[in-house]
Amino acid sequence: MRTFDYVRATDTREAVRLLADDPEAACLAGGTTQLDLMKDGVLEPPRLIDITRLPLHGVERRGDSLHVGALVTMEELAADATVAERLPVVREALLLGASVQLRNMATIGGNLLQRTRCRYFRDPTVPECNKRAPGSGCAAVRGVARMHAVLGAGERCIALHASDLAVALVALDAVVHVQGPERSRGIPLTEFYLTADDSPERENVLEHAELITEVEIPLPPPDTRSGYLKVRDRTSYEFALTSAAVLLLVAGGTIRRARVGLGGVGTKPWRAYEAEHVLTGAPATTATFLDAAEATMRDAWTVPGTEFKVPLARRTLVRELQTVSGVIP
Ligand SMILES: Cc1cc2nc3c(=O)[nH]c(=O)nc-3n(C[C@H](O)[C@H](O)[C@H](O)COP(=O)(O)OP(=O)(O)OC[C@H]3O[C@@H](n4cnc5c(N)ncnc54)[C@H](O)[C@@H]3O)c2cc1C
Ligand code: SF4
Repeated sequence: MRTFDYVRATDTREAVRLLADDPEAACLAGGTTQLDLMKDGVLEPPRLIDITRLPLHGVERRGDSLHVGALVTMEELAADATVAERLPVVREALLLGASVQLRNMATIGGNLLQRTRCRYFRDPTVPECNKRAPGSGCAAVRGVARMHAVLGAGERCIALHASDLAVALVALDAVVHVQGPERSRGIPLTEFYLTADDSPERENVLEHAELITEVEIPLPPPDTRSGYLKVRDRTSYEFALTSAAVLLLVAGGTIRRARVGLGGVGTKPWRAYEAEHVLTGAPATTATFLDAAEATMRDAWTVPGTEFKVPLARRTLVRELQTVSGVIP
């Protein structure tokens, strides 16, 4: 592991300035992604800015939104009373992720910025990886692919975005607030991520020295029901093969409002607008749910090893729509 400078910031503006001063510096929150990648020699920042002492630790309800500091841990957010009452989809996505030890270290800001688990990205001895070495090719497209993406994927990169929380948050229209050297801005999470096939080396629109300070989650209308289903190889401590975040408002057997996010399939946390279009105004029946799932996976791009994800993702979505709506076949 390459040696690096370690600096602890105590003020958000100071942290931003320290990052801005060094184009190769990186920030450190819980460290559960950043330190792993440094130990593996994938990332080699000469300077780490520890942001864990910044005043970004609160969860506060303001009107119809929940404001979550970037340094709130996954466990803390899962235990929040408003999340338990109004955002079951967020609570389930958090508690189905990682392990309790990791969730006590891992922060919300870091979770949204976690890097892909693609084995070729994480192994610097592999020369072909457009994400790590732009223009070098993609070892996964012709190699061993399984925990890879089928939506937003293509010849240049099929890396999966592995966050569960981000899948729930894209469905909720969450907004990421960031502070940079010149300005602060709010970015809708649906516009925050870039697809891997378009820009393998750039995963989101964050600029160097911009810090995530807060995530704002609009609360869904009362009477909305929600949930998160995660399908994986083993029942704990494992990333998703496929997952679905579903929010439904059903009245008189008709779906009045639908929000859907998909995980385990996208090079970014996937907002399933096609499914929402099919669901909204339709009867809450299994036939409707099958149509929605079909529409969602129509543009899938597979390689040998990832084909199974297409039918599995359809079934995952249908099952969660049935569970959340109460329409059990
Ligand atoms: C074994 C294992 C299993 C896991 N399983 C799951 C799972 O099932 N589901 C899931 O969703 N996740 C899973 N994770 C990922 C885990 O949730 C993330 O590693 C964690 O959330 C990252 O948060 P952190 O605070 O540790 O970030 P760090 O590792 O400190 O940082 C991650 C990245 O974000 C940047 N960063 C952090 N905070 C900020 C900020 N405020 N502003 C700007 N940049 C920032 C860092 O510079 C770094 O690039 C797993 C991780 C491991 C190691
Ligand atoms: S899928 Fe993306 S991250 Fe993985 S080897 Fe290919 S280019 Fe690299």
